Amino acid sequence: MSGAAGRVGLVLVSHSRALAEATETLARQMTGESVAIACAAGAGAGGAELGTDATAIAAAIERVCGPAGAVVLMDLGSAILSAEMALELVAPELGARTRLTGGPIVEGAVAAAVRAAAGGTLDQVAADARHALDPKAAQLGEAERPAAAAPAAAPAAAATAAAAPAAAATAAAAPAAAATAAVAPAVAADLAIADPSGLHARPAAQLIARAAMFDAAITLENVTAGRGPVATSSLIALASLGARRGDVLRLRATGRQAAEAVEALAALVQREAPAGAAAAPAASGLAIPVAPGVALGPLVRLVRSIPEVPETTVDDPAAEAERLRRALEVAAQDLGNALRGSDILDAHQALLCDPALVDEALSRIERERCNAAWAFRLAIEAAAAIYRQLDDPYLRAREADVHDVGDAVVRALLGGAAATLPDGPPAVVVADDLTPSEAARLDAARVLGVIDRRGGPTSHAAILLRGAGIPAVAGAAALVPDAGGALAGLDGATGEVWLDPDPAITAEIERRQTAIRASRRPPGARAGRLRLACGREIELWANVAGPSDARAAREAGALGVGLLRTEMLFLGRVDEPGEEEQAELLAEIFAVFTGAPIVVRTLDAGGDKVLPYLELDAETNPSLGVRGVRLSLARPALLEAQLRAILVAGRGHDVRVLIPMVSTAAEVGAVRAALERAHEALAAAGRPHLWPVATGIMVEVPSAALMAERLARQADFFSIGTNDLTQHTLAAERGHPRLHALADPAHPAVLRLVRAVVEAGHAAGRPVSVCGEAAGDPDVAPLLVGLGITRLSMCASAFDAVEDALAGATSAELAAVAEEALSVDDAAAARAARAAARRPG
Ligand code: PEP
Ligand code: MG
Repeated sequence: MSGAAGRVGLVLVSHSRALAEATETLARQMTGESVAIACAAGAGAGGAELGTDATAIAAAIERVCGPAGAVVLMDLGSAILSAEMALELVAPELGARTRLTGGPIVEGAVAAAVRAAAGGTLDQVAADARHALDPKAAQLGEAERPAAAAPAAAPAAAATAAAAPAAAATAAAAPAAAATAAVAPAVAADLAIADPSGLHARPAAQLIARAAMFDAAITLENVTAGRGPVATSSLIALASLGARRGDVLRLRATGRQAAEAVEALAALVQREAPAGAAAAPAASGLAIPVAPGVALGPLVRLVRSIPEVPETTVDDPAAEAERLRRALEVAAQDLGNALRGSDILDAHQALLCDPALVDEALSRIERERCNAAWAFRLAIEAAAAIYRQLDDPYLRAREADVHDVGDAVVRALLGGAAATLPDGPPAVVVADDLTPSEAARLDAARVLGVIDRRGGPTSHAAILLRGAGIPAVAGAAALVPDAGGALAGLDGATGEVWLDPDPAITAEIERRQTAIRASRRPPGARAGRLRLACGREIELWANVAGPSDARAAREAGALGVGLLRTEMLFLGRVDEPGEEEQAELLAEIFAVFTGAPIVVRTLDAGGDKVLPYLELDAETNPSLGVRGVRLSLARPALLEAQLRAILVAGRGHDVRVLIPMVSTAAEVGAVRAALERAHEALAAAGRPHLWPVATGIMVEVPSAALMAERLARQADFFSIGTNDLTQHTLAAERGHPRLHALADPAHPAVLRLVRAVVEAGHAAGRPVSVCGEAAGDPDVAPLLVGLGITRLSMCASAFDAVEDALAGATSAELAAVAEEALSVDDAAAARAARAAARRPG
């Protein structure tokens, strides 16, 4: 919510929860998360009944009313009474900054949100809400005077103050501009609107937000329709222009930054121009927030580089042919992950089994004893030459697909999806479905931020970026063209992305960066624990993936490591790390947390964590395939080598072992047996090691949650992995950009499973923690605590936000909210229950 800071907040009061939430969605279409909006709607459990509640409204005001104040919109009758009563319940200083407005709830909320997002004052936001019906009335001929007659005016005045003399209205609206207009000439541009929907609400909202960044008085006039000019500070005023496709709009600005303003806004107005029109490339918009932080720098593309292919021969052509076949399967899986949903996937998959390529390569292996990578590269080059000679330009361009497929196979044979950044200064990196191995390899010193054109917030790549403290957004394909070179900015907390930001936006981005730096808790300021207002202690543990984020976590005050994702030590390599190497890497991490508990998870490869050298079979549904403990049990040598490395490195440390993706009790028994064997082998070899070792399980498959009471017999502790648990409970892939809202751990179905595990764990005396991303989500962590979780393990960068979210709450309050969240229909309602109950300390 960092984007909401300093802006006027909104409270939507309705008898109907559905109405309020839908209104919020509409308003957010315009502003994203940049404005704090709270719904106080409905009555009874979960707000399911029609009615309003003064206490809920007071809580909503407390939540969104910052220094800039809050505007409350209400629907009918008793909503007004309840809102008035709520004003008496809040602290007097909050009440003084809160305006109840008689504006219509739907149009008013949209207009007010847009005004608030553009930095409007409390009075301006309230006025826009109040006058929100005016353009509609004007358009339908119900207004006293048509909106077209409105003067160039203040936003609300554009439609309503028609009786006021134009000059007076102008001066009142833009005093700064009035002062500068005498010295600065006006800058103007006539633009034909190209968007088929005209200047509809969303581009209008963007226009307002962009216009607010300039020190200039800006107006827009619909020359074709003879409407306006109106100030570009109000959605209502812009709506009154009735701008349709093809209309000519006159943009006019005066003031210090008039020229910059006209240039930037002209680009926005023309953005959806058809091919061939003079459209400016600058784009901005909202992507999916992935890792908090603000970045600004040159935009560079992540280049997936291909290893050098050795031109060597082999002794055993049959084995080499087999290697090629397996590589084709791995490449199919790799491309399937990277191109999922894209229309070129089918063509790529067809190429992978095209006899012209495969038979050609196999026959070169057999006849000429070429190694597999060389043979396939030769086959690819022959095929590419055929495409190059074609007349049809479209078909000729398919040569790129052939190379793409060739590269994937060579990568599968020679190791890793190596991705590189061009040399140059630190940059904002744009990637296409960043893989975990690529994320693991990104150098935080070179990467200011990441814009993933695909992906989502709980993909492993996202988790790694958060761990590395790299600001990131995902699902940005529509916002960021498939090319680099420009300047880019992003806010990983709000999802905002800016391409080629102008000076005013650049200044705003830098301001946010400074504010983030200033708000960080100093090192050593936290003891890994926080106390609720009732005295209950909540432990903050860290999820880490390697030595550098372990150090950052220790510095941030983590009580222990709640999840060490060991697979990250295996990623981004061409071969499997040996037992000794693993022990050394682990020892380096353990040393950082000497004296503190460290939960080490055994290899959780598979799914989106592809390790090419493991030569996994291609799977249709890798998330449901041989991954996690299933893979470890299928490769006992791999598992036991890892267990021995953990036991050796763990000597002298409080290390515990965690088993991922458990779905049955038999898997736990099998890993325990493997641990025994590892211990015996080390003892027989006389190698000192940690023994015995506590062994717990990840609960991330619904069967494990439902069987927790039985699993408690074999597990010393439970760690709930809400990322996978959510994906499996809702059948919504965690990295899928379009299922991001569905794959929400706040869903009551997930919360019910969490409750089941807590109850089973407590009945059996087994500690239960949460280590999925939900633990670090300030809106969900309070629900988890309300369900009885007292140990939260998260990326250390989330500590501050979770502390703030729990500050001042009592166990009883959180339990009541959690109880409510369990009984609602969906995640949005569960989050709303939490939001409505929130009281600042
Ligand atoms: C989880 O699934 O919640 C979890 C912590 O494991 P991972 O994110 O590594 O799959
Ligand atoms: Mg998991």
